[in-house]
Amino acid sequence: MYDLIIIGMGPAGVSAAIYAKRAGLKLLCFDKAMVGGYLNYIDRVDNYAGLYGSSGPDIAFNFLEAINNLDIEVINKEVLSVLDGDVKKVVTKDGEYLAKNIIIATGRIPKKIGIENEDNLRGHGISNCALCDGAFYRNKEVAVLGAGESALQEALYLANICKKVYIIHRRDKLSVIGYNASRVKETGNIEILYEKVIAKLKDKDGILDEIVFTDDSKLKVSALFVYIGFKPITNFLSNLDILTNEGYVLVNQSFETKIKGIYAIGDTIKKDLYQISVAVGEGAVVANKIINSILE
Ligand SMILES: Cc1cc2nc3c(=O)[nH]c(=O)nc-3n(C[C@H](O)[C@H](O)[C@H](O)COP(=O)(O)OP(=O)(O)OC[C@H]3O[C@@H](n4cnc5c(N)ncnc54)[C@H](O)[C@@H]3O)c2cc1C
Repeated sequence: MYDLIIIGMGPAGVSAAIYAKRAGLKLLCFDKAMVGGYLNYIDRVDNYAGLYGSSGPDIAFNFLEAINNLDIEVINKEVLSVLDGDVKKVVTKDGEYLAKNIIIATGRIPKKIGIENEDNLRGHGISNCALCDGAFYRNKEVAVLGAGESALQEALYLANICKKVYIIHRRDKLSVIGYNASRVKETGNIEILYEKVIAKLKDKDGILDEIVFTDDSKLKVSALFVYIGFKPITNFLSNLDILTNEGYVLVNQSFETKIKGIYAIGDTIKKDLYQISVAVGEGAVVANKIINSILE
C-alpha cells in the first residue's frame, strides 16, 4: 500500500513527486512514455523562470536527474483505470497497485482537425510536433494550422528550418498579442493566411500534397503541423464521474476531486493558463497538502 501514486511524469507529476519523496512518503509513479511529458517536444522555453532559453528536452532531462537522484520509482506503463474505495486502486495491464492518495497529472494531447484523410496522412505530412518532425522538411514549404501561442511558437521554430511557413488562421486577425505574435510578423519567411478553413487534404501516393480550402483556393505544402487546441488525457477516468463535458478533471482549490484522496493537477484540469510554471506550482501545492494530511 502506497501513501501516494502519481500518474503522469510531466512537470506537474515530477514536481509533486519531488516534494512527496523528500517528505518521506511511500511513493510510486507511472508514465506511459517519458519523464518530462510535453517538455520533450518543445524546442525552446523562454518563460520558465530560472531556465530562460533552455530547450524542452534539457529541462526534461533535468527532471529525470531529480527522479533518479531521489530514487523515485517510476513504472513505465500506461494506467488503464483508477478504482475508488477506502483504498484506491491503480490498474495497469499487468496488475493493480493500492494507494491512500492518487494524483492525476496526465496532461493533454493536441486535437485533430477531424477531416477525411487526416489519420492516413499522420506521419506522412501531418504532424503535431515541429521539434520531432520539422527537420524532415528542411528547405521545404510547410503550413501550421492554428494561431494560438503554441502554433505561433512552433511556426517560429519551423521558420528556422523550412523555406516558407504558412500559418492558416480561420479569423481575420491574430487574437494573440505580445512576444511571439510580434516575432511572427517580423519573420520574413512566415506568411499568415487569414480567413482560411481547410476543406480537404489531398495526397500523392499516400503523402500530403495539397491543402484545399473551403473558398476553393489551394496550397501546396510538404507538411501540415496542427495546433488547434487540446484534449485532456482522461478517458481512463470515465468510471469516476469527476470529468467535465470536455474531459477535464474537476477539482476544488486544493486540487482535490469530489472523491477524497483523488487529486488532479497540471494540464488535465480546467484553468486559465497551461504552462510549465503553473503545473510545477500545482505539483508542489498538492504534494504539500497530501503530506500534511498524512502527518496529521
Ligand atoms: C507546442 C507547445 C509548446 C509549449 N511551450 C511552452 C513554453 O514555452 N512554456 C511553458 O511554460 N509551457 C509550454 N507549453 C505547455 C506545457 O508543455 C504544459 O503546460 C506542461 O507540459 C503541462 O505539464 P503536465 O505535467 O500537466 O502534462 P504533460 O507535460 O502533458 O505530461 C503528462 C504525462 O502523463 C503521461 N500520461 C498520460 N496518460 C497516461 C496514462 N494513462 N498512464 C501513464 N502515464 C500517462 C504522459 O506520457 C506525459 O508524460 C507548450 C505546449 C505545447 C503543446
